[in-house]
Amino acid sequence: MSNLRFNTISKVHDRKPLKHKSIKKRSAHFGEYVFSPNVMRQYVSEDILDEVVDAIYNKRKINGNAADLIALGMKEWAISKGVTHYSHWFQPLSGTTAEKHDGFLDLLENGMAIEQFQGSQLIQQEPEAASFPNVSSRSTFEARGYSAWDPSSPAFIYGSTLCIPTIFVSFNGEALDYKTPLLRSINILNEASVAVCKYFDKNVKHVKAQLGWEQEFYLIDRALFNSRPDLVLTGRTLVGQSAAKGHQINDNYFGTIPNRVMVFLKELEDECTLLGVPLKTRHNEAAPNQFEIAPIFEEANLSIDHNSLLMDVMDRISERHFFKVLFHEKPFDYLNGSGKHNNWSLSTDTGINLLKPGKTPMGNLQFLAFFINTIKAVNTYESLLRASITSASNDLRLGRDEAPPNIISVFIGEKLSKVLQQLEKVSKGKLSPDEKTDLKLNIIGRIPEILLDNTDRNRTSPFAFTGNKFEFRAVGSKTNCANPITVLNTIVANQLLEFKTEVDLLISKKDLPKDDAIFNVLRDYIKSSKHILYEGNSYSEHWVKEAKKRGLSHALNTPEALKAMLTQSHVALFEKYQVLNKVEVNARYTIELEDYIKRVQIEGRVLSELVFNHIIPSAINYQNVLLKNVEILKSIYNDDFILHGKSQLELIEAISKYIRLIKTETDIMVQARKKANVVDVLQNKAIMYCNSVRTMFENIRYNCDKLELIVDDNFWSLPKYRELLYTK
Ligand code: ADP
Ligand code: MG
Repeated sequence: MSNLRFNTISKVHDRKPLKHKSIKKRSAHFGEYVFSPNVMRQYVSEDILDEVVDAIYNKRKINGNAADLIALGMKEWAISKGVTHYSHWFQPLSGTTAEKHDGFLDLLENGMAIEQFQGSQLIQQEPEAASFPNVSSRSTFEARGYSAWDPSSPAFIYGSTLCIPTIFVSFNGEALDYKTPLLRSINILNEASVAVCKYFDKNVKHVKAQLGWEQEFYLIDRALFNSRPDLVLTGRTLVGQSAAKGHQINDNYFGTIPNRVMVFLKELEDECTLLGVPLKTRHNEAAPNQFEIAPIFEEANLSIDHNSLLMDVMDRISERHFFKVLFHEKPFDYLNGSGKHNNWSLSTDTGINLLKPGKTPMGNLQFLAFFINTIKAVNTYESLLRASITSASNDLRLGRDEAPPNIISVFIGEKLSKVLQQLEKVSKGKLSPDEKTDLKLNIIGRIPEILLDNTDRNRTSPFAFTGNKFEFRAVGSKTNCANPITVLNTIVANQLLEFKTEVDLLISKKDLPKDDAIFNVLRDYIKSSKHILYEGNSYSEHWVKEAKKRGLSHALNTPEALKAMLTQSHVALFEKYQVLNKVEVNARYTIELEDYIKRVQIEGRVLSELVFNHIIPSAINYQNVLLKNVEILKSIYNDDFILHGKSQLELIEAISKYIRLIKTETDIMVQARKKANVVDVLQNKAIMYCNSVRTMFENIRYNCDKLELIVDDNFWSLPKYRELLYTK
């Protein structure tokens, strides 16, 4: 086996960057594989196009005749680009993307072959739902699932297939995917935001959530990846002594991108250009072989589709370059994990970013309304946000190294904190003309200048305001952004609607002028949501204690974090806005908990396998060499052999000690797994997996890594950290 390791390494040393002819002018090819509204315009009449726009913005159904015409256009366009199949493309709760291809090919009654694609096929498909995580109340025989066209995300060509973004729902209409609740949350956020915008500008008709993600990942040579069973089966290394050099010297961040990686990234960018995914930045991350790419932000639903598509494209293209992309949040202990910061903002159809201070005092008051309501929403629903990003893999990242802590808090910077402090002093009830003038001139009117030099960025915060957007940094690299964004949209929508009700009440019952009413409500909100604001070092012990005093939740792991999904008020929130009903919430909770259990279970099995099939045998083989050596020394030097063989004997004993510890701890872990497996109540099972199975991993690993340090390199069968991380 150790030969396999060395063969692999020599294979990797011989790798050369592939040849790739890059697209010269990306703008000229942008979206070439996308059936965008502009392309659609060439195939259908304006009134059909209007119908699509109407369907997107006003949630109207597209009629059958229009759907037929659109399908016809799509088919012609796709065939002109060499496409043979179409597929509904959706994001089931398994966390990947799913597609079921059907050929355009059809036979007429007379046996003549033609290409067909009808409106009904565009609008709906019926993929088998039984093999996807679904609503637990349903039995397999009625596991029919329906995918239905989402006209707000354009169809695109992937390979030789026309992919149509769709939602995926059960026979009873229950959401079986990430997109369905996301779209519902986008709609309610639009309604709530428009209602609040009307205080400031009557012309606003539509508000969209915008998202720009930053995708972090590790890139490992595929051959090395394939020789690590833990990476192949769990996405992370379960053992491995850290390389002597990690990111302590900080020579990697923003460093030169290695050639092989660069060619891969160029090909990826080209493919994304054709697919209309607007990748903008690329750079080395802090750890060796860790990178980040980020796009230009887009409407949230489209941006999320693009992120899911990107992960798939990365996987495919990396294969050609003999790489494997690791999306796991913590593939290497002792090194930075990978996240996917979600930059979120709101923009109106009049071109205003509601989270960017305006040019006038009125514009700034609008900014403050959205800014403060977002903070209040996060304050009320911090545990739900925490739940939205939890997973067995992100558990290993949060609270470590550079990653945000498990406690959700909001960072807004010193300058805006001061503004809020001043606003908190606004008088109750009607404001005097002097006070109003002072507010407008000296506080609200000065916000843009304040922000201009507000370079103060707190990298330790899980949810930070960064000038014109909020950045949710706790999201994991593997996570489908739809989950956190659905929660964020819903809680902010709910908060905005409450705000509207309270302001309207002050106007109608207390006869307050509109601005005064807004100031009054915002003042109260600042007071009641102070606890969520934190400007200090979120990694510090001090913050853990302080957060506890403030009553903020601090879920250390997935079984704990997920509980927030079931809190009555949280279920009620989702039900109120019809984002998810109770059955759907329960199903999601169960699916996520099961996912957690299965992943930890798989990790446990793989770790046993590594221990018994790799680590202990490698150690014994080396120990035998030492024993042989001592035996020979003894035969030559008789009683004096101790003089020459002392160190060897110490090594022999150390190896025995580590083997003993590893074996004992692995046996305990296996017993704990067996015990957990027979527990019926899912929550208890997950807690056992968390507290008595996973906790053993660290001890086992510690002793395995100690062995790695002393065993002859020639006997070690698993590629080491330095090989995984420093081969370019
Ligand atoms: P940083 O590393 O400082 O967080 P980056 O430039 O890497 O910043 O990432 C910025 C991300 O924020 C990009 O994905 C970008 O598209 C996104 N972004 C920028 N402005 C907005 C906005 N108004 N709304 C949403 N996302 C935005
Ligand atoms: Mg960022």
